[in-house]
Amino acid sequence: MSTSQPGTSRVEAVLAGQPAVRGWQEDFYRDLHSHPELSHHETRTARRTGERLRQAGFEVHGGVGGAGVVGILRNGDGPTVLLRADMDALPVREATGLPYASTATDEAGTPVMHACGHDVHVACLVGAAQLLADARDVWAGTVVALFQPAEETGDGARGMLDDGLAGLVPHPDVALAQHVLPFPSGHVATRSGPTLSAADSLRITLHGRGAHGSMPQASVDPVVIAASAVLRLQTVVSRELAPGEPAVLTVGSVQAGTKSNVIPDSATLLLNIRTYSDATRTAMLDAIRRIVTAEGEAARAPREPEIVSYESFPLTSNDPAVTARVAEAFAAHFGERAGDLPRQSASEDFGDVPNALGVPYTYWGIGGIDPATYAAAERAGRVNEDIPVNHSATFGPVLQPTLDTGTQALVVAALAWLAPDRPA
Ligand code: ZN
Ligand code: ZN
Repeated sequence: MSTSQPGTSRVEAVLAGQPAVRGWQEDFYRDLHSHPELSHHETRTARRTGERLRQAGFEVHGGVGGAGVVGILRNGDGPTVLLRADMDALPVREATGLPYASTATDEAGTPVMHACGHDVHVACLVGAAQLLADARDVWAGTVVALFQPAEETGDGARGMLDDGLAGLVPHPDVALAQHVLPFPSGHVATRSGPTLSAADSLRITLHGRGAHGSMPQASVDPVVIAASAVLRLQTVVSRELAPGEPAVLTVGSVQAGTKSNVIPDSATLLLNIRTYSDATRTAMLDAIRRIVTAEGEAARAPREPEIVSYESFPLTSNDPAVTARVAEAFAAHFGERAGDLPRQSASEDFGDVPNALGVPYTYWGIGGIDPATYAAAERAGRVNEDIPVNHSATFGPVLQPTLDTGTQALVVAALAWLAPDRPA
């Protein structure tokens, strides 16, 4: 369709197609929501996404690093903008009560739900891709729409890179992504610098020597080593980091033994740490190793503990210049509905792709909560109690204006880089 008219901004020209897109996009979203797929199993989502992109005129590559989908739309000379959405769901039993709520389970019978809103991200990016494809007369350049599997496990982006993503796409000038979050729908929020924490999950095996529970002198008790280590680990953030340096160390699991009168051979701790700088991350990992090793030595452990890192997410640190450009475009389009994003303690693997490609990036938030519900919770001082957050069984973003806003945000941000069709 031809959308450019004198006096119409490029954003308005592209968004003129939104009513038509909304017509199928809402159904597309509801369908994704009812058919969530766990990390590394996003095949149906990928197929439906690929079909939509192909219809819109994108060159489509499927099966990149598992279920990854890459759509490329070349539209003359100009910058290349990479837009990214993640596709996976979580092992959560949905309790939103929505008419399109998921009743899906995986093969093992585990309930599956889009509890993090990645279905919103996919639907918004597919919609934005269609809008940009339909208004090719008002911009020039290349749009890369990247649909990533396995964000929740932290290895989906790396999987696409390992499968040759860099050779598949033209080198982007900028990479952009968004996440639906528990603030009022219709609003967007940006932040410069460190925005999402780096996260590391560690499995620590503490070795002792098993014995009869009545003969502790013959044992090296790993239960006591573990208990002591758990307490000492609490001092890493409180005693070794400067006040004001944000970091989290959580021992989420302690396991040892099976019976009251058997001292086991070993104990296992699962740790999660969140940091906002490489220096703090390194210092914390060093402190953890030092403490668990020393606790073993203090108890005469027969050997050093084993520390295995099994899930890690990079720091998401938004490029200041890129973020300023997006924030300016958002302010022009969304007005007072564009604001600042507080630093988030959650983590993302989005940064792996731009980091590997050497591309600056920014990652922003869009609201998913009904504005009236949010305002009522704020008035009652009950935001923490009443507003469901990502990963909870009741996190169900309102359909609108969430989809409209997320779609517009992608279009507005992309057009901040894509060239005008011809010099004005
Ligand atoms: Zn999540
Ligand atoms: Zn998420």
